Order: sequence, then C-alpha cells, then structure tokens
Amino acid sequence: MEAEWLLLKCKCGHAFGARRGNRATCSRCGAADNITTSAVFNDSSQLADAVARANLPAEIRDQVEKKLNQESRRRQASRERAGVDTIHRILRDATDSEGILTLESLRSKLSLEGITEPTAEQVMGMAEVQGAVQRTGQEQWKWLA
Ligand SMILES: [Zn+2]
Repeated sequence: MEAEWLLLKCKCGHAFGARRGNRATCSRCGAADNITTSAVFNDSSQLADAVARANLPAEIRDQVEKKLNQESRRRQASRERAGVDTIHRILRDATDSEGILTLESLRSKLSLEGITEPTAEQVMGMAEVQGAVQRTGQEQWKWLA
C-alpha cells in the first residue's frame, strides 16, 4: 500500500508535511494540537511542492499558480502537436504498397486508434489542400511526396 503524505496546517499559520501515522508537530512552533490536514498526497514530491506553495506569501503564491497554469497550457499545446504526428503516422499506415491511400483504409485506421476528430474526410481534405496527395479515383489518393 502507498504511503500517504499529509499537508498539515498549524494554527500559527505554518504549513508542513508529514507521513500519515507519524505524530505531527509543527516544524515552526512545535505545537502538536490544533493541526489540521489540508490535503493528502500519494507521493512525497507532490507534498513537498504543496508545502512550498502553502508557505509562500499570498501575492507570490498567485504568481506561482499563474506560472504553473501557463506551464500546463504549454504541455496541453504540445499534446496537440503530438496529435499531428499521430495523424501522419496513421496516414502512412493507411497507405498501401503502391502508395495509394483510400478513405476507407484511413477511416479504419483512425477508428482502430480511437480517433474521431479529425475525421478521415477532414484529414484528406487537409492533405489535398497542402498538395501532399493527388486524387486518383473515387475516395482514393496517391502521395505526391
Ligand atoms: Zn505552528
């Protein structure tokens, strides 16, 4: 079973961490009473972050939170870029040995990967617009590159 790490807050205003089951005393004033649990974590590094944040003055804490939010938005954006790589890989997988790509093969690869957006029609529309493929028949394309 995972250890549980507690973010504790003393009545003196100091926040500190402790492992569940250990007797907790405030690391600033030494009090053992009137300590409340603010949060519980499964890993000690998350607890360390939370303690550091809890002890920051309010205005600095706001800045730090803002920065962390920006960071997570950046990570989100890079996941979307990875989505493009996934689409490119699927396009390659859906192409046969003659370099022919059909809407049907693309559709089945997309559904194998559990991708509903973009649709096969949208992907081929984009590839056509970018000049990567040339339509060679009904719902069938050939790679130009
Ligand atoms: Zn204290």
